[in-house]
Amino acid sequence: MFGFRLEGKVAIITGAASGIGEAAAKLFVENGAFVVVADIQEELGLKVVASIADPDQRAIYKECDVTVEKQVEETVAFAIEKYGTLDIMYSNAEIMGPRGSILDMDMEKGFDQTLAVNLRGPALCIKHAARAMVEKQVRGSIICTGSVVCVLGGIGPHDYTDSKHGMVGLVRATASELGKNGIRVNCVSPSGVATPIVMSGMSAMGINDASKIEAITCSMANLKGHALKAKHVAETALFFTSDESSIYVSGHNLAIDGGFTVVDNSSAMRSQMLMK
Ligand code: NAD
Repeated sequence: MFGFRLEGKVAIITGAASGIGEAAAKLFVENGAFVVVADIQEELGLKVVASIADPDQRAIYKECDVTVEKQVEETVAFAIEKYGTLDIMYSNAEIMGPRGSILDMDMEKGFDQTLAVNLRGPALCIKHAARAMVEKQVRGSIICTGSVVCVLGGIGPHDYTDSKHGMVGLVRATASELGKNGIRVNCVSPSGVATPIVMSGMSAMGINDASKIEAITCSMANLKGHALKAKHVAETALFFTSDESSIYVSGHNLAIDGGFTVVDNSSAMRSQMLMK
């Protein structure tokens, strides 16, 4: 539908075995990119590659735990060895972390582990991708998946919220430094999408139906009549990685939330209730 907006570009997508990363891997290949599907779920990652079924082997799986620096470094080297360069790093892997009160926060299993995946992981991805891009003088694009919890408290677990707020700082600070090399760094921040991680979190609350999760997201949004899907987030990521945003679009945290984080939802909710 959009043509080949990433023709010949080489991308790494972390957390690409599932959900938003999987949708991005498919969309990027459809748009002409070569994609390294980087994840810790080998079986699912290989399924994603098989489902892409590209005759030119434009998608390939690479085991990569983003908390382990050596593995991130090796994944960047793997992409370059396999496809010749690195134009795009899409740092998307995450864990939700435990729910619960700050009064009971588990500093090791909760806070440290969540930040290791959700903040240290993206920092490692940016570090090693940027090293390769600077060395090869590639004016690349780096993106991270944030969340509406990048800018709002109270709608996600503490550790997850903390890590995603940190991500905005990471994106801005690295965009600031890497601008001189022509490398852009941006963040895409969706509200609720019915991906496996969200489904498992919601099932603990007795919600097992994707359409119910979409309805909750829609009820929080100012924009009505649309269900947010993984492919919509992938399409925004495609914009940030394509030449359409190559001039001057850097350091952003773009909310994909139907206005949720910019409209006064408390009064919107109140007026909805009054109208019923
Ligand atoms: P998902 O669970 O479907 O995918 C996450 C992927 O990350 C999985 O494939 C998992 O194996 C991988 N992963 C976890 N730990 C890893 C590690 N240490 N190293 C490498 N890979 C690892 O979830 P998703 O909803 O597609 O999440 C993708 C991104 O979108 C995340 O950054 C998440 O915070 C963000 N996000 C999602 C939602 C939503 O509602 N689904 C909303 C806002 C933001």
